[in-house]
Amino acid sequence: MASNPSDLVDGFGRVHRDLRISVTDRCNFRCSYCMPAEGMEWLPREDLLSYEELARVARICVERFGFDGIRLTGGEPTVRAHLPVLIEKLSKLDVDLSLTTNGTSLPLLADQLVAAGLQRINISCDSLRADRFEQITRRDELPKVLAGIDAALAAGLGPVKLNVVVMRGVNDDEIVDFATFGRDKGISVRFIEFMPLDAQGEWTNEQVVTQDEIVATINSVYPLEVVAGRGSAPAERWRYLDRESGSAGSDVGVIASVTHSFCDSCDRVRLTAEGMLRHCLFATRELDLRAMLRADATDDELAAAITAEVGAKWAGHQINQVHFIRPARSMSQIGG
Ligand code: SAM
Ligand code: SF4
Repeated sequence: MASNPSDLVDGFGRVHRDLRISVTDRCNFRCSYCMPAEGMEWLPREDLLSYEELARVARICVERFGFDGIRLTGGEPTVRAHLPVLIEKLSKLDVDLSLTTNGTSLPLLADQLVAAGLQRINISCDSLRADRFEQITRRDELPKVLAGIDAALAAGLGPVKLNVVVMRGVNDDEIVDFATFGRDKGISVRFIEFMPLDAQGEWTNEQVVTQDEIVATINSVYPLEVVAGRGSAPAERWRYLDRESGSAGSDVGVIASVTHSFCDSCDRVRLTAEGMLRHCLFATRELDLRAMLRADATDDELAAAITAEVGAKWAGHQINQVHFIRPARSMSQIGG
């Protein structure tokens, strides 16, 4: 084990400590902003990194570069077989270990995930109305997702957060309903500005409901004050004035990638399910770690390649500027 981790720094002085791992590109939903209804071509099984390979990259990031956070995502991470086996391997690295999921598998899996060492969870849900939920996800599964939220709470995952992508004319009339739901359940809702990553290329700026609009809408019903000290977290947070600070469901967050980009404080790198390291969700280049892993590269060689890739990281994604290039792959393929 390398005894002294050194910072993984890019050309803008940003230190990287957070790894997002996509464990699969597959999903049991077909959210309209993420995937087409039919015809998705999944990666062949042998192209996915094995759990041993994923855990090796994670270990190198922790040992060599002092990473302290790992989030598993996808696609839908829980559709990959034996996910608790991976969680158990990663939990040995002693980092803040979390998972982003659509929640449908949690009634079955939540206890096993916690037993394997999972600490925190984000569950995605874009509507609390069954008919609308089905329109967005193309699956009639709202009851299962709601049961998944309860299962996560009962299993002791904490905090449980709810991810809500807000789209104008689709679900922006549910902002207060979600705030109420979070307050009642004791969970933190994270509203996400809709980003230009949709597989079908349907994104337009007009569909983005901005952070300012979201906060004003909630504040008109539940008065809020901003929480200072965001650090490198993607969400800006607000506290409900009528709730005790730090209590369950006492805050709400907004991930404003479009109108208040947080690239300046970004500390993340991403590993796709087939082993490509990306220094940004919107990156136009990636490092083929799978080829290196399968050509028996040493830890030193892998660490050097990761250092060079992060060294080439750009200042930011520049959504809304003329030279912005949409990634060729959707969030489910890159890892959300
Ligand atoms: N399947 C899991 C889930 O839905 O939580 C994990 C992967 S999903 C790609 C991760 C998150 O990205 C979800 O909260 C999803 O709503 C969000 N997402 C996907 N496409 C997006 C987009 N174009 N803009 C904003 N958020 C997006
Ligand atoms: Fe699946 Fe998540 Fe994409 Fe929806 S957002 S299709 S649940 S990967």
